[in-house]
Amino acid sequence: MDCIFCKIVSGDIPSQVVYEDDYVYAFRDISPQTPTHILIIPKEHVDSAAAITPDNSVLTAKCFEAIAKIAKVEGLDSGFRVITNVGKSGGQTVYHLHYHLLGGKDLGVRLV
Ligand code: 5GP
Ligand code: ZN
Repeated sequence: MDCIFCKIVSGDIPSQVVYEDDYVYAFRDISPQTPTHILIIPKEHVDSAAAITPDNSVLTAKCFEAIAKIAKVEGLDSGFRVITNVGKSGGQTVYHLHYHLLGGKDLGVRLV
């Protein structure tokens, strides 16, 4: 499959890894939008949050367990934001499920 995030998980494309376990891989976004901008992805390919099912939802649980750990290690004690873009209208550019972990400054403007 021609998926850049699968290639990052396999090591074919280099990345700045910050966390890894059996289910999850987390690495720094190549184009950070905040001082801390980390992508948390399941190692197994899932297209987007629109493709989460009872069969694979454990992967999202594992991603959020990782997010809590990473936020502590990164010192995001005052708070952070988690975003997942879905599909064309949602602004998704890479079709491998990922959660943006954003923090390291006062994030200010809220969409919701
Ligand atoms: P999306 O737009 O799908 O929500 O998020 C994709 C994210 O992946 C973007 O923030 C983009 O900067 C990041 N990205 C795309 N290609 C690479 C890459 O090769 N390495 C890393 N570390 N991040 C990438
Ligand atoms: Zn993939």
